Amino acid sequence: PSTAPATAYDCCVKVSVHIRPLIGDEKLQGCDDCVVVVPGKPQVQLGTHSFTFDHVYGSTGSPSSVMFEECASPLVDGLFQGYNATVLAFGQTGSGKTYTMGTGFKNGYQTGLIPQAMNALFNKIESLQHQVEFQLHVSFIELHLVDLAGSERAKRTGSDGMRFKEGIHINKGLLALGNVISALGDEKKRKEGAHVPYRDSKLTRLLQVSLGGNSRTVMIACVSPADINAEETLNTLKYANRAR
Ligand code: ADP
Ligand code: MG
Repeated sequence: PSTAPATAYDCCVKVSVHIRPLIGDEKLQGCDDCVVVVPGKPQVQLGTHSFTFDHVYGSTGSPSSVMFEECASPLVDGLFQGYNATVLAFGQTGSGKTYTMGTGFKNGYQTGLIPQAMNALFNKIESLQHQVEFQLHVSFIELHLVDLAGSERAKRTGSDGMRFKEGIHINKGLLALGNVISALGDEKKRKEGAHVPYRDSKLTRLLQVSLGGNSRTVMIACVSPADINAEETLNTLKYANRAR
């Protein structure tokens, strides 16, 4: 973490949506695609609801390099100007968080954001090596690149005991994260130095340095296009919408 000054633009959290294609099981069950992307606009329609984001990547598949260039590449550049960077993937289990962040294989190549961010980072270092000396330290977490736990409602998972408790804690953390991001996104409140509730959950305490201060943050809402998932998809889109 560094102490580069924050500007209003740099503080804001950008929010994108990544809609994966229908996958095996959903196709077998005869699911329909119910999430509509408005052509040429970063806008998503689900039933009568309509949402606008910074970017929308539709289920017909835009190359992951486009998502990297638009969402994560400016954050990697920012690192070299002293800005911290965070990319957060969230959404229900099976919606494509892990795929988005790290393990999208295409023709044998990993196409998720983490391998692309690593490539960009090391390429940039190589290009600057003769001007600046770099020391890279790898510690536990410092590019926070976060693949969050599934956001589905605890009662819908049909779990009990420990799993049910875990689900409640996950949802508590995600709720606190939503509150923090919405407090940070409110420019008027931020100028007044309003309270940001980082301490409401372990998740928001862990992410405090990457969400506030001088950090640039991208949230990627991952959604399934299947009609059977419409309720969770609507929840995820509402959550993402609140974060803007
Ligand atoms: P999550 O991490 O949100 O639980 P995963 O990333 O594991 O979800 O995705 C669930 C399944 O959907 C996996 O089989 C994954 O390969 C597939 N999948 C996810 N996103 C995409 C995508 N954009 N294109 C093709 N398949 C995808
Ligand atoms: Mg996952």
